[in-house]
Amino acid sequence: MPVDVVIAGGGHNGLVAAAYLARAGRSVLVLERRAEAGGAAVSERPFAGRDASLSRYAYLVSLLPPRIARDLGVRVELRARPVAAYADGLLIDADAASERTRASFAALGAERDHDAWLAFQAAIDGPARRLFETVIGPLPTSAEARTVLGDAWPLLAERPLGATLAERFEHPLVRGVLATDGLIGTFASLDDPSLAQNRCFLWHVIGGPWRVPVGGMGALSRALAAAAVGAGAEIRTGAEVQRIDGGEVTWTEDGAEHAVTAGHVLANVAPPELARLRGKTPPPAAEGCQTKVNLLLDRLPRLRTGVAPEDAFAGTFRLHERDDELEAAFRQAAAGEVPEPPPAELYCHTLTDPSIVDAGHTLTLFGLHTPAALFRADGERVKALLAERYLAALDAQLAEPLDGCLARDAHGEPCVEVKSPLDLERELRLPAGNIFHGALAWPWSDDGDRWGVATDDPRIVVCGAAARRGGGVSGVAGHNAAMHVLGR
Ligand SMILES: Cc1cc2nc3c(=O)[nH]c(=O)nc-3n(C[C@H](O)[C@H](O)[C@H](O)COP(=O)(O)OP(=O)(O)OC[C@H]3O[C@@H](n4cnc5c(N)ncnc54)[C@H](O)[C@@H]3O)c2cc1C
Repeated sequence: MPVDVVIAGGGHNGLVAAAYLARAGRSVLVLERRAEAGGAAVSERPFAGRDASLSRYAYLVSLLPPRIARDLGVRVELRARPVAAYADGLLIDADAASERTRASFAALGAERDHDAWLAFQAAIDGPARRLFETVIGPLPTSAEARTVLGDAWPLLAERPLGATLAERFEHPLVRGVLATDGLIGTFASLDDPSLAQNRCFLWHVIGGPWRVPVGGMGALSRALAAAAVGAGAEIRTGAEVQRIDGGEVTWTEDGAEHAVTAGHVLANVAPPELARLRGKTPPPAAEGCQTKVNLLLDRLPRLRTGVAPEDAFAGTFRLHERDDELEAAFRQAAAGEVPEPPPAELYCHTLTDPSIVDAGHTLTLFGLHTPAALFRADGERVKALLAERYLAALDAQLAEPLDGCLARDAHGEPCVEVKSPLDLERELRLPAGNIFHGALAWPWSDDGDRWGVATDDPRIVVCGAAARRGGGVSGVAGHNAAMHVLGR
């Protein structure tokens, strides 16, 4: 029986597209190869015998436009964190103008950088938020985006991020804390002339503060799936798409092959996977470059600096993220070496949302500048080496060894799991582990593509992170693909 739309891949974007299209009266079939929909936005219990439901891959939300949640009736609380960052004793509140933050900059000997921080925020926050309002409308041209960004245009879209930070800030730690927004899932120097780091930075500040989805990422994807099914879409899990031939989609499920014809096929899969399914030569994959470590603790460790762990871990806890350390790690990794010391940041979601564990605390580590290539020859050895280095870097900040705080699973093993880019490729079909399905693009275009989701076949539409204005947990690509299909 033909359907109006088949969606290949049931990531959160596929679910958003399904919900919008079903609400508009289209018949929709979502095919997801994993046992649960949600893609990288899922919660799982990785530690045997421990009731800890972790946001196993993606963990924070900033990019979900409130209108998508309202349109689809999705009510997941996104809870703000009281602290923005902690790095080597520097504590920056979510309200960076606080007295406590000012005193912390002063203790670092970086008083002037506190004023510069507030001025930088004032210069970019308003313009970036105004640009965010365009992401679920037709694509602006570069001239229109330039008008929206105003004076922030050269800072965000013209000069390499490294040069802007070097000009405005004195302390390498302060520069580094700001710089990492440009390096999440992006393997680049801060001075890269391609401005890949600027595109990543813009995409990370455009939505405002990063917040914790209460109940974990799985709560968000389950709510989106419920919205899609409630509107009449059918979601089949354990259903792996094998071929896309124009509007003809073939998939396997329970060992049997099935086929369906659709007016439109929405690709929630990454471009190399889409090319493979279409029998075309896959484009080269932009390599993923992050290592994620999920940990479960019985209790938070005390810090050498005497700062309360409930404060230090409430925001983003930085390890070796001075800008010179970030550049050195980039150069080492580009030369094929495992970075030492390895830059990373940690998040304790249970300080903001304790509902995801029955006891203790989760700790999520996101390691930068560890490209997929480092893991190709002997991935397990490199993962073990990195885990050792991350834990040593954290221990150096602690007044007690982390090991004494780590929870044990049902087999007595410490609750630590490490995910390399190649693990993500295997588990989620992220090409070379790229968390954005490919390099991020500017959220504007002069090529006349109204929604940034078209392919060379009018029946096939991108509805995942690789869409222009895709990347991250946002639903934007799903929304825009649905609008394209509905001809709006
Ligand atoms: C470790 C990690 C941490 C991250 N942290 C954050 C974060 O904190 N905040 C944030 O905003 N973003 C984060 N991201 C990025 C974000 O998760 C992704 O950009 C986002 O999930 C993309 O959503 P999507 O729906 O487009 O695709 P995906 O989530 O990749 O979903 C695609 C789906 O397609 C399925 N699929 C693939 N091939 C087939 C096939 N042949 N047949 C059927 N199904 C198929 C996959 O199984 C998957 O379910 C993170 C990503 C990772 C991996």
